[in-house]
Amino acid sequence: MRWIRTLAVTALVLTLAACETSPTGRQQLTLMSDAQLNEMGREAFEKYQQDLPSAGQAQQRYAQCIADALVAVLPERERNKDWQIRVFESEQANAFALPGGYMGVNTGMLDIAKTQDQLAAVVGHEIGHVIANHANERVSTHTSTQLALSVLGSAAGMQGQGGQQLMGALGLGAQYGILLPFSRRHESEADTIGVRLMADAGFDPRASLALWENMSAQGGARPPEWMSTHPSHGQRMQGLQAEMGSAMARYEQARQAGRTPNCPRP
Ligand SMILES: [Zn+2]
Repeated sequence: MRWIRTLAVTALVLTLAACETSPTGRQQLTLMSDAQLNEMGREAFEKYQQDLPSAGQAQQRYAQCIADALVAVLPERERNKDWQIRVFESEQANAFALPGGYMGVNTGMLDIAKTQDQLAAVVGHEIGHVIANHANERVSTHTSTQLALSVLGSAAGMQGQGGQQLMGALGLGAQYGILLPFSRRHESEADTIGVRLMADAGFDPRASLALWENMSAQGGARPPEWMSTHPSHGQRMQGLQAEMGSAMARYEQARQAGRTPNCPRP
């Protein structure tokens, strides 16, 4: 009686349906509860770590140092998530963040993000997706909701084919054969949150522009994966530039307050 369970879960989810407001003040439809989605994020992260080889200790420490500095300046409500970051051994220049605060960066991304501040731009952007609940909005579309419910309702969970599709919906695209890019609106929102966050943590916000320069320099026939799943390059540069004045002011303030992160690049 699978459908009865699905129906019951659907009713539960719809009861919990809420219209929330993102950190930049945008109204959002979020059908899943945070607890459900964070649990899905945690499971997906576990599976991802089983499927992909980890990078060495020095690279883990480097990414952790940057993530710690960024998480430290989040509002308290967000700071208390189970934030984790891992570096994975893969040439594909990619990074992701899952509901609940589970993040990954590939070694290929460390090659493109050439300084701690540039990597802070990547991680800040990913944190932006998490704290703005973008995965919830995306999973709240009709097909993804069906998918999420069937995965939640099945014993196989993340292991089955539905699990792989759900991994895609959560943002773990290429590895599982499904690319579901965030919308343009989500991307620029994550950029805005990310650049503010990096500045508050004492990372130079101008590095976000430099990062995108590096990305496009790497472009050509095979653009970095993170860029190809993050559309509209020119518009994003404009968006970042529009944010730069206030970001620089936040950066100066952070430096004066003694927030001067020093994460040596391995
Ligand atoms: Zn993104």
